[in-house]
Amino acid sequence: MKAELRDEAYIDTPLPIGHGQTISAIHMVLMMSEVLDLHIGHKMLEVGAGSGYHAAICAEIIAPQDADKKGHVFSIERVRKLADSARKNLERAGYGDRVTVVLGDGTCGLQEEAPFDRILVTAAGPKIPEPLIEQLKETGKLVIPIGQLHLWQDLILAEKTSKGIDKKRLCGVAFVPLRGKYGWR
Ligand code: SAH
Repeated sequence: MKAELRDEAYIDTPLPIGHGQTISAIHMVLMMSEVLDLHIGHKMLEVGAGSGYHAAICAEIIAPQDADKKGHVFSIERVRKLADSARKNLERAGYGDRVTVVLGDGTCGLQEEAPFDRILVTAAGPKIPEPLIEQLKETGKLVIPIGQLHLWQDLILAEKTSKGIDKKRLCGVAFVPLRGKYGWR
């Protein structure tokens, strides 16, 4: 985050993080984390590392310092400079061992680390990317904003069952676009 925005860090509103991207308002970060139903030991994937903040919040829940069996957050970011700064931010804040930031197109998931207990998508796509459904464990949960390219989208909670995917609409939201092979081109 830019130094001139430091005074706004505790205001519950989205803030710019550079490269045309934004970090969500804190209530949205917490709401998405809450509905994901995160537990210690979970292996999760975040699509859209951005600043690294949301990944740190998730790591705090699934991989607290004193846990015997720590979980892990893999966070993909497609903008190289954001991936680099997210990695630095996370290391500086003490999350380097619990969050791995990967540069790439998160709409393709992260096959080499699949399957995941939980998947968090922090940018809005036209539909749930098929690879993310495939890389989610059965009984796993996924949160993603789905809808129009710019304003508005629905925040969707999806749960994988033996029969397929159960989807629930949570609320209306406004997120930056999910770009990539299974997102907006
Ligand atoms: N979770 C972030 C905020 C994310 S903003 C935080 O805590 O700061 C959405 C991010 O998704 C942006 O950084 C954008 O570059 C990224 N993004 C968009 N499409 C992507 C894709 N296909 N793969 C990976 N990252 C993507």
